[in-house]
Amino acid sequence: MNPSSIAVVGGGITGLAAAWEFHKAAPDTRIALFEASNHFGGKIVTRTLEGCLVEGGPDSLLTEKPWALDLCRELGLEAELLPSNDAQRSFSILHRGRLHPFPAGCKLFIPQKVTPILTTTLLSPRGKARMLMEPFLRHRLPEEDESLADFTRRHFGQEALDRLAGPLLGGIYGGDPENMSMAATFPRLRELERKHGSLVKGMAGMMRQANANARQGKAPALFTSLRSGMQTLPDALAEKLKPHLRANSPVTDLQKTESGWLVNGEPFDRVIVALPARAAARMISGVDTGLEALLSRQSSSSSATLSLVFRKQEVNPLPTGFGFMAAHPLTSLLVGCTWTGNKFEGRDTPDHFVCRAFLGGPDAKSLIADGSGDTLVSQALAALRNVCPFLPETPAAHWLQRWPDGNPGYALGHLDWLKSIRKKEAEHPGLRFIGSSYDGISVSDCVRQAQQVSGNIQQHQNT
Ligand SMILES: Cc1cc2nc3c(=O)[nH]c(=O)nc-3n(C[C@H](O)[C@H](O)[C@H](O)COP(=O)(O)OP(=O)(O)OC[C@H]3O[C@@H](n4cnc5c(N)ncnc54)[C@H](O)[C@@H]3O)c2cc1C
Repeated sequence: MNPSSIAVVGGGITGLAAAWEFHKAAPDTRIALFEASNHFGGKIVTRTLEGCLVEGGPDSLLTEKPWALDLCRELGLEAELLPSNDAQRSFSILHRGRLHPFPAGCKLFIPQKVTPILTTTLLSPRGKARMLMEPFLRHRLPEEDESLADFTRRHFGQEALDRLAGPLLGGIYGGDPENMSMAATFPRLRELERKHGSLVKGMAGMMRQANANARQGKAPALFTSLRSGMQTLPDALAEKLKPHLRANSPVTDLQKTESGWLVNGEPFDRVIVALPARAAARMISGVDTGLEALLSRQSSSSSATLSLVFRKQEVNPLPTGFGFMAAHPLTSLLVGCTWTGNKFEGRDTPDHFVCRAFLGGPDAKSLIADGSGDTLVSQALAALRNVCPFLPETPAAHWLQRWPDGNPGYALGHLDWLKSIRKKEAEHPGLRFIGSSYDGISVSDCVRQAQQVSGNIQQHQNT
């Protein structure tokens, strides 16, 4: 039997992992991975500034999601795995120009202890009372999808949304909590409500097990990175896939034929499109305008990271903890900041201290897309120094990495949208769309989707 042929479009982590999975399953398969740029890894980009390792995109993997970590181990990167320095794990919320420690004893934003809520400076007396009432209220989970904002308000009130859940959970997606689908982004919290009614009570049960593990020293760090940077993972995949990689090869033309697909005129049996949905929409326009319209419906938000390297002798005092996130509604483009060297060992040098600022919010969209780099950097630095006057005016080095429309919007109804896409896809055998736009934005979720798609097609092939 002739080996089948597969085109993978997009050389981010999703496309690389998909190509790897197909290659492992059937090494004779003709695989071509088309990447528009000369960089493999997409949003995963690592650099060195003044000897400090800095990340332009993701800085870590969430340890409890196993897929990317397992892939690292499979690629021989076990010794590279770097747990977050959880002994320093605390962070603050920037609210009305001041940093307030995030209340201790919360799991996500769900309180597990009364005293930290009573004593926090982050909430008003009314906000505290509303949060502490949660276990005593009746909660009714709507059948249909609900926004992060409505879900949080129902349980804990508006202040908890603006000052805890919005920055913490909304921040992960860079989206507007009023329009973020709870069913697609945090289904486990909905499940907790379904089972227990109260999130406080439900989480308490989960925490008993987690605390028992922690007492036995079994609790893994919350985040895991790679010692030589996140880029190590796509680099390792690219090394294995070398003969299959096509750099500087944007796919501009996708056509369906009687027996398969033409990708930039080259025939393949199957096409895996591992691009953000709107980029995928442009590609499919000549094949199925309904699918094109569906894919282009996904909204997105823009963000940027600004890595700043300061001379340690000029930072007084050196901050502790992991950093901070800004409360909602956002009042500047500064969404948050990580003290990188506190979160992961070995990121600072003896002479330099690294801070990574996240820029975004609704007002920053056009600035991130078209604004001058100097303006963005000076505005961000000014906003940061307003909050952290211990930082000097001039960094020793900086790197601004923009991600215009880089965060897919998991809007209300996302799961229905995805269902419609899968239904439409089924009309085009051999075509699949995977990646951060669809079924999870984390690097690990992207790897899982790649594993699933190759598994699915593998089964298909065998039957
Ligand atoms: C600032 C930031 C911080 C993040 N932090 C974390 C984190 O800490 N942990 C975490 O798990 N996740 C994080 N994420 C999310 C995660 O990084 C992304 O969801 C994931 O990397 C997306 O991978 P992807 O392969 O699906 O898409 P992408 O990385 O966007 O890759 C798509 C690729 O397709 C290429 N391409 C585009 N058009 C074409 C074309 N026509 N033909 C060929 N190629 C094309 C692009 O050049 C790109 O290389 C973060 C994201 C951002 C923006």
